[in-house]
Amino acid sequence: MKNIVIEIQRWSVADGPGTRTVVFLKGCPLHCPWCANPESQDRLPQIGIFPSRCVACHACERECPEEVAIPAKDGAYSDGICIQCGQCIKVCHASARDWLGEEMSATELVQVIKKDMVFYRNSSGGVTFSGGEPLTQPDFLKAAIQECQKLGIHTAIETCGFFRWEAVEETVRRADFVLFDIKHMDDETHKALTGVGNKTILQNARSIAQLDIPMVIRVPVIPSLNDSRENIAATAKFVADHLPGVLGIELLPYHKLGLSKYDALGLDYKLHHINSPDDATVGMLRDLITAEGVPCITADSGYDPQPIPPKLKVVG
Ligand code: SF4
Ligand code: SF4
Repeated sequence: MKNIVIEIQRWSVADGPGTRTVVFLKGCPLHCPWCANPESQDRLPQIGIFPSRCVACHACERECPEEVAIPAKDGAYSDGICIQCGQCIKVCHASARDWLGEEMSATELVQVIKKDMVFYRNSSGGVTFSGGEPLTQPDFLKAAIQECQKLGIHTAIETCGFFRWEAVEETVRRADFVLFDIKHMDDETHKALTGVGNKTILQNARSIAQLDIPMVIRVPVIPSLNDSRENIAATAKFVADHLPGVLGIELLPYHKLGLSKYDALGLDYKLHHINSPDDATVGMLRDLITAEGVPCITADSGYDPQPIPPKLKVVG
């Protein structure tokens, strides 16, 4: 059982309790224009082009069977169709052309994750499966979670919430922690922003909230797109009314850290005109959340002040 892993990021303190390894898996049913990991949206491996690394050796041009590869500093391809054979990557010693995503089995992935066990133990941390949408391959994720938990590694899932509940329930039940994104409370606006409506997502949030799993609701704060007082207050009210027991809401201020990845993929970044929200605005939105009786969670506060012991769940 294999999946495409884009990146394994070590020593993260922003994606769940303690110090964590974050595994980014490929494939996502949403297409948010602010996505910081655009390479995670497509299910298949893609070729990234990095002009600043190119030394103009022209090896890619010579080796390309389709005669479409050109030096990365001159662009991605000449006219024609790339068949993704990877020949240009093999000969590019400057890594100016590189695969984004590597196929790994759950066992191979856990071999990497377990290298940081000492950090998890010392910080009550663990591994967070992110993406993309890690639940697009629930059986792979279940296998990886099971292997981690046999080793006593705490596991978290970060999800966009858009999935068929029956297909993922067994996998979600095994996780120790859930980070659940809600992007907008209005169905039509959600669809316009992400490509899908929010009804399934909100229902799935309710389903997970029924389980005995600590959950944090995450809201990306994108100025002018979803940062209105009405939307944030509606999100907090939904959490207060329908998601009993969640730890709270974490606001994630918009940033442009993923911009270079759009260039590497030759994708158009549509939010150049939007800047990060200022601290005062984020503080005001936090006040709206707490006014609904919902705690605001931040990575700085450690998500959960209590150590979270790793546990092996037995299901069914
Ligand atoms: S992946 Fe293959 S077809 Fe595409 S540019 Fe590289 S060598 Fe050419
Ligand atoms: S092989 Fe790599 S370094 Fe050489 S021209 Fe092509 S992209 Fe540039």
